[in-house]
Amino acid sequence: MREKHLKLKFWGTRGSNPSAAPNMSTYGGETTCVELRTSKNELIIFDMGTGIIRLGNAILKEPNQVKDIHILLSHFHWDHIIGFASFKPVYIKGFNITIYAQKPENGTLKEVFEDMLNNRYWPVPLDKLGAKINFREVHPLLFKINDNITVEARSHPHPGGAFGYRLLVDKRKITFITDIEHPPGEPIESVIELARESDLIIHEGHFSPEDLPKHIGWGHSSWVEAVAVAKASKSKRLIMNHHSPDYEDTQIAILESDAKKEFPNSSFSRSEETVFIPVK
Ligand SMILES: [Zn+2]
Ligand SMILES: [Zn+2]
Repeated sequence: MREKHLKLKFWGTRGSNPSAAPNMSTYGGETTCVELRTSKNELIIFDMGTGIIRLGNAILKEPNQVKDIHILLSHFHWDHIIGFASFKPVYIKGFNITIYAQKPENGTLKEVFEDMLNNRYWPVPLDKLGAKINFREVHPLLFKINDNITVEARSHPHPGGAFGYRLLVDKRKITFITDIEHPPGEPIESVIELARESDLIIHEGHFSPEDLPKHIGWGHSSWVEAVAVAKASKSKRLIMNHHSPDYEDTQIAILESDAKKEFPNSSFSRSEETVFIPVK
């Protein structure tokens, strides 16, 4: 019998905007989206950048199609939500999609999606989608999706604010932290606490350590901050995501090799990379 595991797949690895250039294709050109499947085939999705479009196509081809889809949104910047309108399950009756996010500064979570599908920008409005879409403004910050999945959310500094998520799932700890700016040389304590003893931490590593100081206030990190959080939280494995759309594969490979010297069990996510974590 095959060993039980939970699975993660990186459908969207880039930050800010898609980059389809051939010399960026190894580390991926779609914007942020990570799929998590539990050992029971439950589906959690972190963010819906353009990466979610091909994930949607893959879901439709599955023999045992999962109908309940839970999407945890870090925040509302385009590179984290733009894939929604092209995520095919939203048009199909029978899918039950729940979107979890922070309450927007103005208005409701549902209004974010009503605005996005306004007929000025898109032909199909929110109330004409086939799937049932549920909007859940995350409060309290610790909640259960079901008996197998507990979520803890914490906000962190980024223009407009963003949520990091820690999941206790299949008795494993998975943390997803993106679009975060730590004070220079000082990883944020509450983020380290959120990530404590993760089996896997996904943390953005958008800029190189050389470029980061030129972009103060942009709301991002380099591999140095990601490694500092992974080490301080005693996490087992670190995968960096949300790569700068301006970096070619050769540049990211150098950043990856530098990060590995400080934290050997670290890497930068690659397009459609799949990670299996054994489950007891
Ligand atoms: Zn972003
Ligand atoms: Zn952002």
